[in-house]
Amino acid sequence: MGFMRSRNFVIIAVVLSLALGSCGKSQQTMTSLPDADTPTISASNIPQATVTVTPAPTMENPEYVIKLALDYGQKQASVDETIKYQNQSGQELSNLVLAVEPNLWADCFTLKEIRVNGQVSTAFVLDGQKLELTQVLAPLEIITISISFTLAIPQINVNNQAAIIRTQVFGYTSRQLNLVDWYPFVVPYVPGQGWLLNDPATYGEHLVYDSASFDVTVRFAGETAPVVAASGAETPISDGKRFLLDKGRSFALSFSPDYLVKSQDVDGVTVISYYYAGNALGGQAALDATVRALQIFSQDFGTYPHSTLSIVQEETDFSMEYDGLYFLERRLYFGYSGADTDFLPTIAAHETAHQWWFSLVGTDQANEPWLDEGLSTYSERLFNESFSPEKGEWWYLARITPDENKNCPVDISIYGFYDYNCYYTESVYKRGAMFLQAVRDLIGDQAFLAFLKDFATQFAHRRASTQDFFTFLHQSSDADLTNIIQEFFREAH
Ligand SMILES: [Zn+2]
Repeated sequence: MGFMRSRNFVIIAVVLSLALGSCGKSQQTMTSLPDADTPTISASNIPQATVTVTPAPTMENPEYVIKLALDYGQKQASVDETIKYQNQSGQELSNLVLAVEPNLWADCFTLKEIRVNGQVSTAFVLDGQKLELTQVLAPLEIITISISFTLAIPQINVNNQAAIIRTQVFGYTSRQLNLVDWYPFVVPYVPGQGWLLNDPATYGEHLVYDSASFDVTVRFAGETAPVVAASGAETPISDGKRFLLDKGRSFALSFSPDYLVKSQDVDGVTVISYYYAGNALGGQAALDATVRALQIFSQDFGTYPHSTLSIVQEETDFSMEYDGLYFLERRLYFGYSGADTDFLPTIAAHETAHQWWFSLVGTDQANEPWLDEGLSTYSERLFNESFSPEKGEWWYLARITPDENKNCPVDISIYGFYDYNCYYTESVYKRGAMFLQAVRDLIGDQAFLAFLKDFATQFAHRRASTQDFFTFLHQSSDADLTNIIQEFFREAH
């Protein structure tokens, strides 16, 4: 997520969130099967463990096959999803937990049927964003979960962002429909801790993902067949659109009949910019900046892992990253001046950097948000100084405003930053970037860049924690980081 928000917005959002609580979101929602008893978990309907005679072959990652029928005009979707998941936890599991983000919206998500290995299952509970299946799964056992559901897609209130409380990318406006985190997915299982599904918060992202492969087919049920921007590369089919994404965290789609499109190939990657009439300069600038950032970051952090990267002009004032696709906030397009100091290219570089610090290297965005946001913010500097050292310095002073941000801890969660009288963006983004600058100043350019590349390579398609970051940093450099860590972090590392 980018940060171009004003302080006023943060204050308003905090006040409103305290006043309204979970405004507009359904809580404790239970969806049951049609013509079936309310699904409950009881001993009688727990399936017996399958006896595995020979170890199943190891799947590279979970596989999602999703067939979407979208009525763009009616804002309705019908979805058949099949998940192939292998228990790679090293232990027997007694349940599976899936995140169902659309169920955070009132009257949005309707579950039609769940099948486990082809058999209709009633052994599940859907409560808010959590779908829990009671299912014994032996080590290395592979399970196939088929889920049919419909979505009544919610409207995005583009003119009253504060009232939305949380960032809302999911939903539709008068000329755009976005499907992000729109299907149930199995959350990561952490041995010793269990399933990792964080609560939503007022600010920041809360989901954590395993790397997975996606095969997504889109067919249009209504009269309108809009332009489609997608996380994956399109592969031709006769009666719709099919997209494939390997080793991604999530699969996002954005639709609009009004998108104009520019694209450019760079080092085998097709970068595609989707924008609206009247914003061609911004659409071109977003494309140019993303192409450049892709080259810089591929060089600095390792090769970009996908064959496409799409930029979508957002209808709100939020930018947000997904695998192979990011949304860029509208005001950057509306106000794009073409001046050397315009922030559009910098924010485009930030969201592009998330392809490494979010997509490639997964992190716990809720509890350790600095890890992807601090690194993506600092990557803005690498992008800017690729033009000239002076531009890198301009960026640091203009964007980070180091003199104003002296005391906020970097290691805060999306739930706890109010405790430190610090704005979320100051702690996580700005102080995170200041910390990385301090490390670079101490260990030198060469060691710093080598560390970033090694870190990305080491944790590619896996998840890294703050502890992993420091373990790896200490291994990469003999420099004494004690004082720097004390200055920026609450915890010693
Ligand atoms: Zn970000």
